[in-house]
Amino acid sequence: MYNDHGASPSVTAARRSRGSLVAGICAFAVLVLSATWVVTTWSEPAARATAPTAHSPDGGVAPTAVPPEADDDGALPADRDITPFDTWHPAVSRLERRLLKAVQEAARDAREDGVAFVVTSGWRSKEHQQRLLEEGIEKYGSLEKAREFVNTPEKSTHVSGEAVDIGPTDADDWLIRFGSAYGLCQAYANELWHFELLTSPGGTCPTPRNNAAG
Ligand SMILES: [Zn+2]
Repeated sequence: MYNDHGASPSVTAARRSRGSLVAGICAFAVLVLSATWVVTTWSEPAARATAPTAHSPDGGVAPTAVPPEADDDGALPADRDITPFDTWHPAVSRLERRLLKAVQEAARDAREDGVAFVVTSGWRSKEHQQRLLEEGIEKYGSLEKAREFVNTPEKSTHVSGEAVDIGPTDADDWLIRFGSAYGLCQAYANELWHFELLTSPGGTCPTPRNNAAG
C-alpha cells in the first residue's frame, strides 16, 4: 500500500513511535540482562556455600551455565575444586548417568558424616587421555609402567564416562567403606581414588584389580 519513500505523515509518525518502542524494549532488555548478570555473579559464592541443601533429593541438579573456562576435553580447572554437583563441567556432566547419580547420592550422605567429595578426574576426551598417557610414559619411563596408572584412550573407563576419581583421602576412605551401598567400588588396588559401578547398590564389590594394566 505504501512504498518506503512515499510514506504518509501518519505512517512516519507510527514508524517513529514504533522506533522508540523498539528502543525502549532494547533498553529494558539490557537492564534485565545487567540485573541478571549482577544477581548471578554476586549470588554464586552463596549458592556454592549452600550447595549441600541446594539440590533436590532425587539427584536432579539443574545445570548451571558453562563458564568460559570450562574445557570440553574434561580437564579440570586448577584454581577451583569440582564437586559431583558441578554439572556445568563436562568432566562431571559426561559421566555415565547411573554413575553420576550414585556419586551424587554418596556425596550427599558422606556430607552428613562431615566428608566432602572432590572430583579429581571424571569424563575425559580421548585426546586428554592420550596426553595423560604420554605424560605417564615420560614420568615412569615406559609405556608398560605408565599403563599401571594410565590406560590407553581405547581402554580407559574415564573416556567412556564409567569412572570417577574422588578425593581427598577421607572421601576415598568413606567410599571404600560405604561405596558398595551405591554400587561404587574401588577398581584398582593402586588407585584408592578411582571408583566405578562394579556391583548393584547394596551388593558386594569385587576385589580390586592390582592396577589398570592388570
Ligand atoms: Zn581414575
